[in-house]
Amino acid sequence: MSDIVRNLSLLKTQLPSSVKLVAVSKTKPVSDVMVAYNSGQRCFGENRVQELLKKKDLLPSDIEWHLIGHLQSNKVKYIVPFITMIQSVDSFKLLSIVNMEAFRADIVIDCLLQVHIAMEETKYGFSINELTEMVDLKEFIELKNIRVCGLMGMATYTTDTELIRKEFKYLAGCFKTLKNKKYVEMPYFKEISMGMSGDFKIAVEEGSTIVRIGSKIFGER
Ligand SMILES: *Cc1c(COP(=O)(O)O)cnc(C)c1O
Repeated sequence: MSDIVRNLSLLKTQLPSSVKLVAVSKTKPVSDVMVAYNSGQRCFGENRVQELLKKKDLLPSDIEWHLIGHLQSNKVKYIVPFITMIQSVDSFKLLSIVNMEAFRADIVIDCLLQVHIAMEETKYGFSINELTEMVDLKEFIELKNIRVCGLMGMATYTTDTELIRKEFKYLAGCFKTLKNKKYVEMPYFKEISMGMSGDFKIAVEEGSTIVRIGSKIFGER
């Protein structure tokens, strides 16, 4: 059995069946994606549009692709026709461009709003204040071709598991706040995307519904 297949089946035993696994294939060859695909994995994540487009053309069309990295406005139009979910929406401007391109294509795109939960300065994302303000804006409510399905966040890259737990708890709290404020009657607002190779167990304990795992499946990058 290949390492990828073994890693995937081990992971499946560690994840509750209610938690969705996005296999993060960034920097890895399409042959690796095919190994995972042939063992049943259908959901993959990429962080760069260029790489995603290249891979998508070489791989089966029933793969669900999630964009998990910072998205530039001018690249939105390339992924809108096929993307399953954009997890990394980090500004109102980006959201409105996704909406515009989705409107042109006559579709509705599932998005997650990325929240800045880490200590690190470099990570993209909204603050909770920005989010609670944005969801009240008329301009936001008028976006009919996006569907906000929940939140995404990345914890600090650290061995301090208590800090990681605190950050995931915070994201779960943000989710609750927004759910109660604007999405109580929207059953599709249900996702908390948190947890990577090093911290997915903590994330699941703190209420993650989607984990994004790369190196624990495909090996170190
Ligand atoms: C690379 C990446 C992951 C996966 O990281 P691993 O540590 O390899 O599991 C998850 N989420 C985002 C946003 C990433 O860029």
